[in-house]
Amino acid sequence: MIVAVTRAELAAALHDAPAGPKRAFVPTMGALHEGHASLIRQARLAVGLDGCVVVSIFVNPRQFGPNEDLSRYPRPIENDLALLADLGVDVVWTPTVNDMYPPDEPLHEVHADERGSILEGASRPGHFDGVLTVVNLLFDLIRPGIAVFGEKDFQQLVLIRSLAAARGDVQIVAGPLVRDTDGLALSSRNAYLTPESRAQALVIPELIGMGQDLARAGAPADLVAQTVEVGLLAAPGVEPDYVVVTDDDLGAPKAPGHARILIAARVGGVRLLDNAALDLQGEL
Ligand code: AMP
Repeated sequence: MIVAVTRAELAAALHDAPAGPKRAFVPTMGALHEGHASLIRQARLAVGLDGCVVVSIFVNPRQFGPNEDLSRYPRPIENDLALLADLGVDVVWTPTVNDMYPPDEPLHEVHADERGSILEGASRPGHFDGVLTVVNLLFDLIRPGIAVFGEKDFQQLVLIRSLAAARGDVQIVAGPLVRDTDGLALSSRNAYLTPESRAQALVIPELIGMGQDLARAGAPADLVAQTVEVGLLAAPGVEPDYVVVTDDDLGAPKAPGHARILIAARVGGVRLLDNAALDLQGEL
């Protein structure tokens, strides 16, 4: 496994590496867990043993707001590199902020469409512009034919699909959300939870399961969302930010059909995201 830090080291590592559909890329912010590992396995499956799997670790300041957790975001780089080596990754890029954004180089900023201003974007203004700008730059520097993103960040995935469609040079593969054995969605930010908050947070996947059951039994989308929100409001230590049901493109859900329930909630001061597929039945 080659670990590159500077842009020149990255370019050298990729110079003779398989490219196009034989090069898959998984961007991360590190503090890796089984959710990231599942995406890396999908990347390997997509390119084959003779392909090239590239992973980046970069805590992107442009996607953090002024009052967010940029400086305290976990950075266990040695553990991360050991895990990536075990997973058989070919190239890891761990740039500094100056490697990613050289001060003397003009930056092509990407702006999210209106779907970047709702949900996460409403709570975190500018967040998705920061995400799309760094992902676009990463695509320019790494030139993957395939890039793998997790459904854990569902709104991000939808916006990145549009970025990739506009670029026309990279295929986006989605990895299912990976949960811990107790049902909590895996996240690097779970490290901030106290044992008490973590136990309180389990109501989120429990209520998602209930929402899925309700949808299957014929409840309309707004009733599913309301019921889950009421459950979260009643749960000790949990402050929901939003509970919505959308279609797979963040638009209004259609019944019968596939939909998505998306949740953000604060538990013990930690903002947690979760989402899951719903099957809306329509008129019964
Ligand atoms: P992050 O390091 O949080 O920026 O995440 C890097 C990638 O891993 C993104 O595509 C995330 O959606 C994905 N990811 C994070 N947590 C999970 C999870 N629990 N299951 C699946 N993918 C995940």
